[in-house]
Parts: sequence; structure tokens; C-alpha cells
Amino acid sequence: MVPPTHLPAPPAIADDWALFLDVDGTLLEFAATPEGVQVPPGLVARLAGLQRHLGGALGLVSGRRLAQLDELFAPLRLPAAGLHGLERRHADNHVDPPTPPSLLRVLHRKAELVVERFPGALVEDKDSTVALHWRGNHEAEQPLRDLADAALPWLHDYRLQAGDGVVELRPAGTDKGDAIAALLDEPPFAGRRPVFVGDDLTDEHGFEVVIARGGLAVLVGDRTPTLASHRLGAPRDVLAWLDATADAPSHRSTA
Ligand SMILES: [Mg+2]
Repeated sequence: MVPPTHLPAPPAIADDWALFLDVDGTLLEFAATPEGVQVPPGLVARLAGLQRHLGGALGLVSGRRLAQLDELFAPLRLPAAGLHGLERRHADNHVDPPTPPSLLRVLHRKAELVVERFPGALVEDKDSTVALHWRGNHEAEQPLRDLADAALPWLHDYRLQAGDGVVELRPAGTDKGDAIAALLDEPPFAGRRPVFVGDDLTDEHGFEVVIARGGLAVLVGDRTPTLASHRLGAPRDVLAWLDATADAPSHRSTA
């Protein structure tokens, strides 16, 4: 596999693209806390201009909630997938709300009883997912894993997503790739060449979808391995790339 640093920079944005952008680590530099991120001056106006340039086919695909995205980019409200695709806002402004099964609430309460016994362990509730963290207390790993394993058969269409020191129960069919595929089925995204820009491991699902549909996958940074076809070094390079489009005359995809 080609090392990410050898991947070419993406071509100029063409006006027949459907462009999807991750937020943290892609448009915005990471901060010490998720609340601490800064939206660079002019970025909101730049995104609004890009949305017009693309006939509306610009979407955000993020791990954040839609409400947080709207706060960050106010007054702009782009079509978006929040919580890695669990929340979706379509181009017509209609929002698919997450619908947590009541059994997830039961699991949540049980998990809270476990973490009370293991200080440092944590239950993170994102409405339709529950993440069980033991990075702060490894003695909680087995009890939390057992709890998740026991709950899974009762949670219809849910799956376990394992991470480093964490296991998350989340609905199947709700990753960033599913979110992009769903938006690509409807106007104004349908029929356009899909391009996704992202930095994180969870963005690889999105890369897979856009590549399968003849599009471009743009990695931000040098995470490896990756399915990406193109690369930009850091959020400041993404912004420069977006800027170049704002100044450039309209053109169609050539490749
Ligand atoms: Mg990211």
C-alpha cells in the first residue's frame, strides 16, 4: 500500500461534485476538549459559498451531534450526519431523529451500577448508543464487556463496536459510509461525483463508499493504512484547498 504521505493532493473542486466534509481534524484543528475548538474566521462564509458553487451538494459528516454542528457553524445549517450517521439532516431540512430502544435505557442504568464500583470507568450516553469506557480503570473491563455481551442479543439491529479501552453498542447500518450513501440517494447529491474528506479511522467507511461510486477519498494527515486516493496534510491545507475553489472559475470533473 502506498504510504499516505505519497498520496497526491486532490484536484480543484469541480462543480459536479457532491462534497462531504468531516469536521474535527479536517475543517477544525483539534483542541484539548471538544468544546474548545475554534472555527477560523471566514470559514462559515466560505462553506456557504461552496454550497452555492455545488448546487447545494455540500454535507458535513461528523461524530458530533447535529445541534453542536449548528452551534459551531451558525447561521449555516448544512445537510449533515451527526453522531457518525445516527442523526441525519437531509437537504430539505428534514431530520431523522435517533430512536433509542427502551432496553438501551436499561443497559445504561445497569452500566452505571457497574461503574460506581470501579472509579475511573465511565458510561457515555449518546441517546441511541451507549459507550462503556474502562480506560480509567482496567478492572472494569470484564464486567463491562460481560454486560455488553449479555445485552446485545436483546437489542435488535445493534452491534458492538470495540475501541481502545471502550466498547460501544450502536445501531447497525449507521456509520459514516451509510450516512454518505443515504445522502447520495437524494437530491441535490444524487448523480454527482462523491468526494469525502476526513482524518479519522471511522472516516474509512466513508472512503469505501465514495471510491466504490467512482469518487475521491481525501485523507487529512498521515494515518495508515488508509483507502484514501488523495491527501491533505492538516486542516489549514483543507481550508487553503477550499479557498482555491472559491476563487477558481467553475469547471466539471476531468478524471
Ligand atoms: Mg475527524
